[in-house]
Amino acid sequence: MGTIMHVDMDAFFAAVEILDNPQYAGKPVIVGGHKDSKRGVVSTCSYEARKYGIHSAMPISRAVALCPHGIFIPGRMKRYQEVSAQIHAIFPKFSPIVEPLSVDEAFLDMTGCEHFYSSLEQMGQTLKNEIRKQTGLTASVGIAPNKFLAKLASDWEKPDGLFVIRTHEVQEFLQDLPVSKIWGVGKKSEQALHQLGLYHIHDILPHSEQWLVDRLGSLGTHIYYLARGIDHRPVEAEQEVKSIGHEVTFHDDQTSFPFLRSQLGQMAEKVGWRLRNHGLYARTITIKVRFHNFRTITRSHTVQNPFCDDDTIFSEALHLLENEKLEPVRLLGVSVTNFTTDLQLSLFDERDQGEKLSQVMDQINRQFTHGTITKGRTLLNDLD
Ligand SMILES: [Mg+2]
Repeated sequence: MGTIMHVDMDAFFAAVEILDNPQYAGKPVIVGGHKDSKRGVVSTCSYEARKYGIHSAMPISRAVALCPHGIFIPGRMKRYQEVSAQIHAIFPKFSPIVEPLSVDEAFLDMTGCEHFYSSLEQMGQTLKNEIRKQTGLTASVGIAPNKFLAKLASDWEKPDGLFVIRTHEVQEFLQDLPVSKIWGVGKKSEQALHQLGLYHIHDILPHSEQWLVDRLGSLGTHIYYLARGIDHRPVEAEQEVKSIGHEVTFHDDQTSFPFLRSQLGQMAEKVGWRLRNHGLYARTITIKVRFHNFRTITRSHTVQNPFCDDDTIFSEALHLLENEKLEPVRLLGVSVTNFTTDLQLSLFDERDQGEKLSQVMDQINRQFTHGTITKGRTLLNDLD
């Protein structure tokens, strides 16, 4: 049995703004656009702003209507990345196995480190104190036997939370939670579960794995184990990433261009999501196509400006594919390379709508499981 810690900064971008502008403390702070922004969306907002019903991904205009006296800030991604780097530099002091999830979130595998602390609570508090000392910001920490439970725990007493779930408490903790709290259960899966009369985790427990698999396919196995608090995913320490890619092998050779196009759209979103999660920008896009006779080609294009948005990945990949003479396709892949973290442009600039939109989609997807929101171009033949 492991000891996994999940760390998540509280209202991160808004908290950084309050840190740098102490006069904003205790006020509704909304990051994502100016008050008069026509197209902006809320990226993060302070807990005071949430009391007005404001939340991430909401149009700025709507947030202004809900809270006209709020403090609206376009955002300073460079500064957030600076603080993010400070936070991520703290984690390796606590554990050699750290899996960064986003600018303000990480899993730490603390298995074997327990005896350095008087209790698991003290372990979590020590990390919270260190983050506060180094950055002046609060984090919420969850400690549990695995990743699924640790993430639930960090969310449990947010903001400035600290919550520990011990092995013998797992079943009681889980039983009354709605099924939507299960990692990987998005809106669609939630509906499917509701249709089977499964609303809470305790509704799942009486059913066998086979019963669930017969009705839900592979999701059945997934929820059978998570409902019991069993999650064997390891914390995966980050290695230096040189390439991020995704590829799909089709059951049947594909000749339909609209189908291939939609596949590219899905892959572009997956690749873009991972790219942004690593805080990276790429300059080169490569497609890989394997034809029915196993002939395999790769085609690359390098662009002037580093990118991390789905739209650029999609349109460049599509362009590369359009230049090829189509034979029946067995496998299609998209990857990006040539990374940089150094950016000349401001992420919240009006010119970068594509990127901003991707970031908002990422946030929604993180909140409600990946894949909740995708662009229309991927909807054809969604194989996920
Ligand atoms: Mg956070």
